[in-house]
Amino acid sequence: MEIDGYIVVEHSDSVSGYLSIIDKAIESLRDALWLVNQFIHLNPELAFKEYEAHRVLTDFVRSEEGWRVTPSAYGMATAWVAVYDSGKAGPVVSLNIEMDALPGLGHACGHNLIATASLSAGIAVAESMKKHGVPGKVVLFGTPGEEGVGGGKIRLLEAGAYKDVEISLISHPGIFNNSPLVRTTAFCRLEVEYHGRAAHAANSPWLGVNALDALVIAYNAVSVLRQQTMPSDVIGMSITDGGGPPNVIQAYAAGVCVLRAASASRLKELQRKVTACFQAGAEATGARADIKVVDGYADHVPNRVLAESYRQYWNSLPDVPEPAIPPKDQFTWVKASTDQGNISYAMPSVNASFAIPPGPNSGPPHTPDFERASGTKAAFDRALRVGKALAGTAVDVLTTPGLIEKIKQQWRRDMDAVEQRVLG
Ligand SMILES: [Zn+2]
Ligand SMILES: [Zn+2]
Repeated sequence: MEIDGYIVVEHSDSVSGYLSIIDKAIESLRDALWLVNQFIHLNPELAFKEYEAHRVLTDFVRSEEGWRVTPSAYGMATAWVAVYDSGKAGPVVSLNIEMDALPGLGHACGHNLIATASLSAGIAVAESMKKHGVPGKVVLFGTPGEEGVGGGKIRLLEAGAYKDVEISLISHPGIFNNSPLVRTTAFCRLEVEYHGRAAHAANSPWLGVNALDALVIAYNAVSVLRQQTMPSDVIGMSITDGGGPPNVIQAYAAGVCVLRAASASRLKELQRKVTACFQAGAEATGARADIKVVDGYADHVPNRVLAESYRQYWNSLPDVPEPAIPPKDQFTWVKASTDQGNISYAMPSVNASFAIPPGPNSGPPHTPDFERASGTKAAFDRALRVGKALAGTAVDVLTTPGLIEKIKQQWRRDMDAVEQRVLG
């Protein structure tokens, strides 16, 4: 279609046009991708120690023609970057590849499947460039340390790894949703230490300043605060040091809170309220409070223009699995946190949830059941389907005139809404 000399490619045209190319590219590598997927699953490695996964993934990309691979990138042993440049001017699209497992639980978060989906998508985009003249560049990032508060992607962002990249795509397995429009929670950690003064608890307690009392007051204040929080707020608190023998006035006590909220701005508000609870303990007892904020992850702000491309590719592939992907513009809320959230504040992002067939006990991520489920052939098949839909999304961005501008406009609107929430 041509309007005012400007070529307009309907989404549905590009879906049918490129899907068979993408499908062929990924299916021709099915056996090799299965070996990589299984290898990572059977060799779980913790955050920033993903040495074997780094090796097999970079070897795989290197074996494909035309990719420029940088191992151990940006000062991290297990971060890597691979670039395929079509040689023709166009947008720069990227996919993130998580690799880490959980302490004592192996790949119970299914990051082997994330790696498979993004890897297959990247290769399929490059194939579309090689054989069918698709312009632009595709970049794969090996992003270490997503679990805990590792924040490998934040370190890459800060190091400038994404400075020339225009969009970021990733996916995450679970058992409940197939959705490209996923919001996740913002998350941080607040640590408090109380310093009081020791005294004999029987003969001169009036000489003491009780740090444990300060902590108990803070704990109770936080408990009461929960009555006035929003349904999407989560505050978990534990006492990490309750002092020494009971016949001494406690000179030292410590605790920690983990906070989650629907947005980075709401998290700041919650952080202010919890800090006030901590200060109340100090005020009431005279103990000194040392409060430390450990930054976690921002909430994920998904890009609805990108998500719509993904949805169309997902529904165009045969044998659409249950549950159905939600209708256009319907968000899916996942109460978990990811450093892809921080990426979504830096550029348009999609973090697609996909359901894999659950294990015998229907365990969600971070359970032994999910560790087993993420190693099956059925889960791998789903990851390849995700890879095809991600590749389709990327190819749409590269080939549809005006689409990248539309995506960026949406992102700016989303960021303006975030800012207004902060100011409001
Ligand atoms: Zn996880
Ligand atoms: Zn995960």
